[in-house]
Amino acid sequence: MTAGVRDQRERPLGVLRLSLTARCNLACPYCLPDGQEPPGLLSLEQRLAVIAAAVALGVRSLRLTGGEPLLHPGLEALISAAARLRRPPDATGTGLDEIALTSNGALLSAERARALRAAGLDRLTLSLDGASGQAVAAMAGLAGGAAAGEALLAKVLDAIAHARAAGFDPARGQLKLNAVIQRGRNDDQLLPLADLARQQGVELRLIEFMDVGNRNGWRPEAVLSAAEMVERIGARWPLEPLGRPAHGTAGRWRYRDGGGAGPGGGGADLAVVASVSEPFCGDCNRLRVTADGIAYTCLFATPGSGLDLRPRLAPGAPTDALREALANLWRRRSDRWSEERQAAWASGAPAATRHAEMAYLGG
Ligand code: SF4
Repeated sequence: MTAGVRDQRERPLGVLRLSLTARCNLACPYCLPDGQEPPGLLSLEQRLAVIAAAVALGVRSLRLTGGEPLLHPGLEALISAAARLRRPPDATGTGLDEIALTSNGALLSAERARALRAAGLDRLTLSLDGASGQAVAAMAGLAGGAAAGEALLAKVLDAIAHARAAGFDPARGQLKLNAVIQRGRNDDQLLPLADLARQQGVELRLIEFMDVGNRNGWRPEAVLSAAEMVERIGARWPLEPLGRPAHGTAGRWRYRDGGGAGPGGGGADLAVVASVSEPFCGDCNRLRVTADGIAYTCLFATPGSGLDLRPRLAPGAPTDALREALANLWRRRSDRWSEERQAAWASGAPAATRHAEMAYLGG
């Protein structure tokens, strides 16, 4: 019996982050996609087999990522098929409780938003790392300066409107805005971004700048801690803590004046992902599978350390081979990179190691 598999630290498997492409239409400096698709991309059927195997092992939440997943032409077909693995409300046993998508929003037309919703997408998180043209251009790696940034900002605001019109309700946590904040680069955008999210009525999720990959020039001094983000925003709009849910990545907050995503259940007004300053490895339940079928158990995995699922997905492979391989991978797992980074700093030792790139791992 493999359902409810646990790792070496007794952490259950709960989330599958499935990357559909390593390509992206932007070049954000904290991620820096190289524009290359790995060879041997999984087919729709192979991806469904991976999802089904993960669900059989306890996965409840499917997060579709990239690169930019809207570049994947089979996205809606995959969501429709995955929705058939949904667990009925109030039912026990295995099955998906939610299907979510993370996108930069630049390609989200009204038609695409409706198609995603109709296919069965439950949640949509869009990315925006600034509220001015200059800042957006710098954080998205756009040539063309402020004008290009203004154009992207307008597209993301349109995407929010399209998503809302398609039925993604921010008050129920179905539509959120992600922003990576880097000290000295876009931390002057904190209040403007909070203001923009309040005006839009969506939850803003602020993410600490992380040492993902090997080429984003990360250094500790460039991290603006989640605590400082909350302090700066709370000084302008007082905040009340809602806590970090079990297995969640973000500490959640509510504006005392009622601004933000508003009441309705399921959502918060502001959330902060403190992966560097307050690691949450202790209850991390996320499995990552790349667009070419390599499974990783940590965002900070070393290149080449993943498990190649393709032999288990080949025609004629034994039916249980994939599920058993994933179960064994998870049982062996002891990852706690962010905790180790923090311990290394405390002892004055460098925590340097090579990481697989974020655009490849799916964030
Ligand atoms: S560092 Fe790895 S184990 Fe820790 S929370 Fe991040 S993905 Fe999970």
